[in-house]
Amino acid sequence: MESNATILIVDDAQYNLKILSNMLSNQGYKVIEANNGIDAIALTKTHIPNLILLDIKMPNMNGYQVCRSLKKDAITHHIPIIFISAIENVEEKVEAFSMGGVDFINKPFHLIEVLARVETHLRVSSLQAQLLEQTRMLESQNVILKKQLSTLTGFDWSLHAEIQTAIELDQMELFYQPIVNFQTNQLSGFEALLRWRHPDRGVVTPIHFIEIIEATELIYSVGRWVIETACKQLREWKGNFPDQQDLTMSVNVSTKQISEFNLVLYISEILDKYEIKPNCLKLEITESTVMGDQDRTMQILHQLKDLGVQFCIDDFGTGYSSLRRLTDFPIDILKIDRSFIYNGEWVIVKAIASLAFSLGKEVVVEGIETLEQLEVLKKLFYLSLSSSYGQGYLYSKPLDCLGVVQFLKTHQVF
Ligand code: C2E
Ligand code: MG
Ligand code: MG
Repeated sequence: MESNATILIVDDAQYNLKILSNMLSNQGYKVIEANNGIDAIALTKTHIPNLILLDIKMPNMNGYQVCRSLKKDAITHHIPIIFISAIENVEEKVEAFSMGGVDFINKPFHLIEVLARVETHLRVSSLQAQLLEQTRMLESQNVILKKQLSTLTGFDWSLHAEIQTAIELDQMELFYQPIVNFQTNQLSGFEALLRWRHPDRGVVTPIHFIEIIEATELIYSVGRWVIETACKQLREWKGNFPDQQDLTMSVNVSTKQISEFNLVLYISEILDKYEIKPNCLKLEITESTVMGDQDRTMQILHQLKDLGVQFCIDDFGTGYSSLRRLTDFPIDILKIDRSFIYNGEWVIVKAIASLAFSLGKEVVVEGIETLEQLEVLKKLFYLSLSSSYGQGYLYSKPLDCLGVVQFLKTHQVF
């Protein structure tokens, strides 16, 4: 077996070299010999043997040094090394293994034992090589299959991998967009919005990647990171701006996150850790969350509600939600989708707002870009201005942390 394998024997005693070499050659192995460490390293690099029998005690360079040097080299590190020595000391034998040796044979050796060990380690190493090769093949098949799957299902696995790396490299960041009260014209809080600071593409908005995060397990770690980062920032800004103690933070939470095990505990720990009043945290969920698994979602929303956290239905009016669910679920705020503002669909805006106000909820209008839009909205909502809020480029685009600090210094009233 493995008779075409090449074995390097390293020993400064000529006699040992000869009998080992004869025995292994007789078994059909190709044998090369070295009687010192320097030659052993050179021969290993040029011949890449399948196995090395290595004496420990040799002048100038001992077997441990040879082994260490070969294990450091990417080309030779995989070659199994069997130490062969007259050393009796147990610690030294153990050291042989910690250097990366696979076995140890005592001198004087028995040829049958040497042969048995050589054969065993050649077999192990050949199986390891096969395993590695098969793993590589499976990995490349995996890549091909994922590509085929992407084409069939539209799921972009290469973007998924890119996002995963971006998360590991800390390229995700939160931006914050101000939310302003219609009556006081004062800043009321911020919505945290995810951004990917891409090394080549610059700041990438969620439209290009959030779907993939939400569709996969990535949402759990990213979701938690968003909640913690937003709360930590809120704490910091409240600390630096003492007149902003009521500032709120709105965080987008996907349906999958709501049913995540221990979400309630996690949020309560974060609120404690950053000393955030629970009603300053607003979780933005969508209509589809409310329309999902009613019992489970309801139970979790109520547990979060018991903590004192507020709930907001985001992009209201674009999805499908029953009025029954709106009253059953502990929702505090309806956030009117910006498409209604953009299209000037004021009748719908008014209808949604009236519904919200009569159910005792607040309203946030997204996507206010012009003074004209703001004026129309204020007229429509004139009876409930204190419960109405606006968010949009008219007030400010989403800002990075430095931008928020600047904003807090200059823009608290509009
Ligand atoms: P959203 O929660 O409805 O956030 C509002 C979006 O409207 C933001 O887009 C914001 O930049 C944009 N916007 C605000 N004012 C204006 C305006 O005056 N004009 C226009 N044209 N757009 C305005 P963004 O940041 O690209 O976020 C898109 C969506 O990605 C968010 O919509 C939200 O659904 C999702 N998202 C963002 N961050 C997160 C996150 O941390 N977790 C999850 N699950 N989803 C997130
Ligand atoms: Mg939102
Ligand atoms: Mg929205």
